Amino acid sequence: MDILVIGGGGREHAICWALAKSPKAGKIFCAPGNAGIGEVAEIVPIQVSEFDRLTAFAQEKQVGLVVVGPDDPLADGIVDAFEAKDIPVFGPRKNAAHIEGSKTFMKDLLRKYNIPTAAYEKFDNYEAALEYLRSQPVPIVIKADGLAAGKGVTVAFTREEAEKALADIMVTQVFGSAGSQVVIEEFMTGQEMSILAFVDGETVRPMSAAQDHKQVFDGDKGPNTGGMGTYSPLPHIADSIIEEAIETIIKPTAKAMVSEGRSFRGVLFAGLMITPDGKPKTIEFNARFGDPETQVVLPRLKSDLLEIFLAAVNGTLDQVEIEWSDEAAVCVVLASPGYPASYPKGLVISGLEQVQDALVFHAGTAKNADGEWVTNGGRVLGVVGLGRDIAEARSKAYAEAERIAFEGKHFRTDIAAKALV
Ligand code: ATP
Repeated sequence: MDILVIGGGGREHAICWALAKSPKAGKIFCAPGNAGIGEVAEIVPIQVSEFDRLTAFAQEKQVGLVVVGPDDPLADGIVDAFEAKDIPVFGPRKNAAHIEGSKTFMKDLLRKYNIPTAAYEKFDNYEAALEYLRSQPVPIVIKADGLAAGKGVTVAFTREEAEKALADIMVTQVFGSAGSQVVIEEFMTGQEMSILAFVDGETVRPMSAAQDHKQVFDGDKGPNTGGMGTYSPLPHIADSIIEEAIETIIKPTAKAMVSEGRSFRGVLFAGLMITPDGKPKTIEFNARFGDPETQVVLPRLKSDLLEIFLAAVNGTLDQVEIEWSDEAAVCVVLASPGYPASYPKGLVISGLEQVQDALVFHAGTAKNADGEWVTNGGRVLGVVGLGRDIAEARSKAYAEAERIAFEGKHFRTDIAAKALV
């Protein structure tokens, strides 16, 4: 069966890599892909926002399945566009992807169905929001309602920061219409974890839990990024807490979506805080695979990813085999100089062919006129070590990451350190 994967980052590289292992997989196309993905899939130069061209391509090639990676096209209804042409597609429809596309919708849903999350109020009026904000203690969290490429959330430790964040969203409108509403939310403390699950309606098949490292520098310092590294599983977090999160948050949310007439099919990704009393609470929901969580979760999947996607599309997700290996995985992201602020492109990458004992997923690479690998994004490569435990996986990831060089390459040196203690 031929497959079209939509997206062009490390997540899509990991998805294409995992699909390619399926005996059922024929040709894999990836739009727009990147040069590294070109090693496992045929790159198609169509952007993720070009729904007409993507559906026409899928029809022309008669692909048996489309898999959508990124959030923006999901929120804009790309799944509905494929379904309208009777093309099988794995991902949530627009009305279900709304759980990621609107934080006010997500928070209201959780409140209505009594699903644990931080206390909050929502506003579409700046004066009312400011008055409420001034009545609340700091730290406090201000969130633009819509998608803002991970930048719409401010954890404010001072009143000045909080008021500036609110004004940026609602007065200056730095996020455009994504900021026409805000959520002002209680600040939670604790450890964060991500649980991704394959979901079809009320059927929830959890994946192994993972932890991300959002800030650019060691010790969780510096500005937020798309993610500088991940690891899975989480040996320092009790299975009972992960189980509780699945039972009290993910399953009830899938059920709530069905009750609301927004049945979810795809990957539901819960960002969770384990609060000091040991109870998990929801920070956010995403309607897709995480990037770079996918890079550590899929290498640990022993079952056939294509079979799982097809089962979800065919309504048999409850019956498909989903097994995880006992191995641990650690992903270290190598980033361009300057990232997450502006960065140059086209820096020559050397040493890729010397990597022996790690998977390398390409997030932002290209080939230059001389056929050399060059940087082409903020996050360039994800180096994934696999081992008997986190310590082994981590030392492999770092040892192999050292073999790869480009000018100004930077990465965190403390990925998964929390899991070692
Ligand atoms: P993403 O880029 O993952 O999509 P986002 O823009 O949807 O992020 P959130 O995940 O809601 O934003 O928040 C980003 C980060 O801010 C979280 O990972 C967490 O570290 C922090 N955060 C969000 N809400 C809270 C909260 N209520 N209390 C403490 N920290 C929070």
